[in-house]
Amino acid sequence: MATLAPSLERGSQVYRAGPQFVRVRDFARMRADLVDELVRDGHVRTAAVERAFRAVPREMFVTDDRQDAAYADAPLPIPLGQTISAPSMIAIMLEEADLREGMKVLDVGTGSGYNAALLAEIVGPRNVVSIERHRDLLAFARENLRNAGYEVQLAAGDGTLGYEPEAPYDRIVVTAGAPRLAKSWIHQTKIGGRIVAPVGRSTFSQTLVTATKTAEGKVSTRQGTPCAFVPLIGKEGW
Ligand code: SAM
Repeated sequence: MATLAPSLERGSQVYRAGPQFVRVRDFARMRADLVDELVRDGHVRTAAVERAFRAVPREMFVTDDRQDAAYADAPLPIPLGQTISAPSMIAIMLEEADLREGMKVLDVGTGSGYNAALLAEIVGPRNVVSIERHRDLLAFARENLRNAGYEVQLAAGDGTLGYEPEAPYDRIVVTAGAPRLAKSWIHQTKIGGRIVAPVGRSTFSQTLVTATKTAEGKVSTRQGTPCAFVPLIGKEGW
């Protein structure tokens, strides 16, 4: 098969196969290009986060009709009106979380399961618990994670209440917009541990907050980049 023309989409090429034209996506190439861009733009800063992005196949966490956009640096729709976040936003959050192998992490807002897979690459699969309020979305994530080869513990429920059975956590990473840091998250984080969450007074925009637990019931917070996540719905959310 001879290459006819590179397509406009990152990493895909058009071939002539007899009288037909066939487009082949090279996901490994698309992934490598995206990670190079995230490193160049300073969103990925550490070797651990870079390695995770190079390892996790994002195309396995987006729907069939979004395969072409799997490596666009943009949020994409997933079932039930939710989104898989933009890779640069996820990279910023993972860098803020300052993760190390062996840390116990709660991922609030499983969505597609992509962030849970990245976390599993960094801290180890048995150290990640991911909670999602939509059971049908959790089934989507479970299948994505299984197909991609990740054994992450998944829970259905209201993540604004954290996930007590596996607490305490070294890190809690929240990927839905919260009105405030939930008391349960602070309670379930180890002293010296961190919470990274988008927090804002409206459901449309937030600021990324990194909170370090300094003592029981106490955190010191740092405000980061402006962001826009889907709302965190629940007892301690909207
Ligand atoms: N991290 C996800 C990924 O990698 O695909 C994307 C998360 S999406 C931006 C936000 C998710 O948070 C949605 O799937 C939504 O259903 C979920 N969510 C909202 N409120 C929640 C709650 N109280 N507990 C658990 N999940 C919640």
